[in-house]
Amino acid sequence: MEERYERQIALPEIGAAGQARLRESRVLIVGCGAIGSNVAEPLARAGIGGITLVDYDIIELSNLQRQGLVTERDVGRLKAEVLAERLAEVNSEVKVDYQVLRVDPGGIEGLVKGVDIVFDGSDNYPTRYLVNDACVKHGVPWVFAAVAGTYGEVMPVIPERGACLRCLMPEPPPDAAVLTAGTSGLLNAVPRAIAAIAVAEGIKILLGAIELPTRLVTLDLWQGRFAAQTIPRNDGCPCCGEGKFEFL
Ligand SMILES: [Zn+2]
Repeated sequence: MEERYERQIALPEIGAAGQARLRESRVLIVGCGAIGSNVAEPLARAGIGGITLVDYDIIELSNLQRQGLVTERDVGRLKAEVLAERLAEVNSEVKVDYQVLRVDPGGIEGLVKGVDIVFDGSDNYPTRYLVNDACVKHGVPWVFAAVAGTYGEVMPVIPERGACLRCLMPEPPPDAAVLTAGTSGLLNAVPRAIAAIAVAEGIKILLGAIELPTRLVTLDLWQGRFAAQTIPRNDGCPCCGEGKFEFL
């Protein structure tokens, strides 16, 4: 196959068949900030067939410290639009489209249906619980990712086979308990590291190579601590156990 992907096809884990599968894959990225942009770039370079970006926000100067693929001249423009332009320059073979909106219960199911995987690039738990409900309901895998300070965590959700976000945390944490880049700052290497893990997990999901049971990976880049813990499925989970999609 073509020169562009030769190092990737050379990987026994991917090969020509895996590359063909990636080319047929459609991905949704919810949020185009630090994590979303750093997930989108390697996916485009890897030759994913289609990428849909969703974000309602504009680029501020303070985003440049951690946001992928943006420059000073993009300040004031829409994150989703700018990222879509840059991805098209990175790899014109990828069909990239974007929607400028805040995901809500009325729209999330339409976005999730028909894609092969969803990446969490949001920065808040209400959006993640919405994505979790929609993805579990429609059997679409997604990758949870969160960062704050020097810490990050990432967990793939494989509906019906692995744990979901509500198996990990039955209810959204109260706002006051949630660390965000806004309240605790953010070391810019952290979203890049978490995004890299999310992309690797996502490619494994697309190629049918993800391991179960579910693992939550956590890291603290300042302390040099990396850990993975098994998260069991909870039979009493309101979402994936009982099929109650309370956030939709
Ligand atoms: Zn669950």
